Amino acid sequence: MAPGVHRIPVPTPFAVGAVNCFLLRGSPLTLVDTGPGSAAALDVLERALAELRLQVSDLELIVLTHQHMDHEGIVEILVRRSDAELAAYGPLRHWLADYRASARADDAYAQAVMRQHGLPADLTALLGVLAAGMYAYGSPGSVTIALADGESLSMGGREFSVHHRPGHSPSDIVFLHEPSGLMLGGDHLLAHISSNALVGRPLNAPLETARPQPLVTYSESLAATRLMPVSLLLTGHGEPIRDHRTLIDARLNAQRRRAGQILGLLTDGPLSAHAIAQRMWGEVAITQAYLTISETLGHLDLLVRDGSVREVEAAGLRMFEAL
Ligand SMILES: [Zn+2]
Repeated sequence: MAPGVHRIPVPTPFAVGAVNCFLLRGSPLTLVDTGPGSAAALDVLERALAELRLQVSDLELIVLTHQHMDHEGIVEILVRRSDAELAAYGPLRHWLADYRASARADDAYAQAVMRQHGLPADLTALLGVLAAGMYAYGSPGSVTIALADGESLSMGGREFSVHHRPGHSPSDIVFLHEPSGLMLGGDHLLAHISSNALVGRPLNAPLETARPQPLVTYSESLAATRLMPVSLLLTGHGEPIRDHRTLIDARLNAQRRRAGQILGLLTDGPLSAHAIAQRMWGEVAITQAYLTISETLGHLDLLVRDGSVREVEAAGLRMFEAL
């Protein structure tokens, strides 16, 4: 790990396991990401700070890498106890200010996408109820430092450049300390699993604009990060990455293979994204429908972009047809 930077793995109730929060010693004393909204997360964080002879009230700056609840779920409690500044991607300010309404709107958007792409109405409604049961793991927050791509931010005595890297979520940002090549990357790129590129409700655009293409966006973000001089990438889950270019190439290759697999499923006629997801993942396409529909749509968008598939409307559903 880089000098003065401490990784604090905080437990989450989600399949991904622990989330990495990072404490950067120096001025301002900075915590990057907070963990989910749970007593267990707060307890682990407090104990880790105590081992460093620190406490929550010492924090001067809290930074969010993106909007997901496993990264921002106790931010309101931490800010209240510390009076720390809160930095996040600028357009997240409104999203965080009214977190519950934002989470509800995101879910309504997700449900509409799942319906259009073939998930039956009863399953969509059930998944909506389950998602609403998770809201308590997230938190509202008052952003005091609204970050934009190309700006810089001082954390723990070092100056980091700020880069918007949408794809995993609309609000992902990564931070690069250029003199040392240290990057704090949130969930933009993970060592042990490929980051999900979810079809998230756009933060700025009105809803009637075209559906986001998260995997197209994510591929562009990865290509931009690939060019950066990173020597150590600290990630939101799992172990740090030391060779980001090899890993990004592997991720982009895996995307191409999967897109080819999906194209193969369309030889017998048009299918909805959900029907494709069921053929790819079976049961998981029901329990994790949003994830699998997002992933399938992501690959279909790449195939549409490359001219091998087209999206058509049939019986009120969006279908995909090989050309
Ligand atoms: Zn995430």
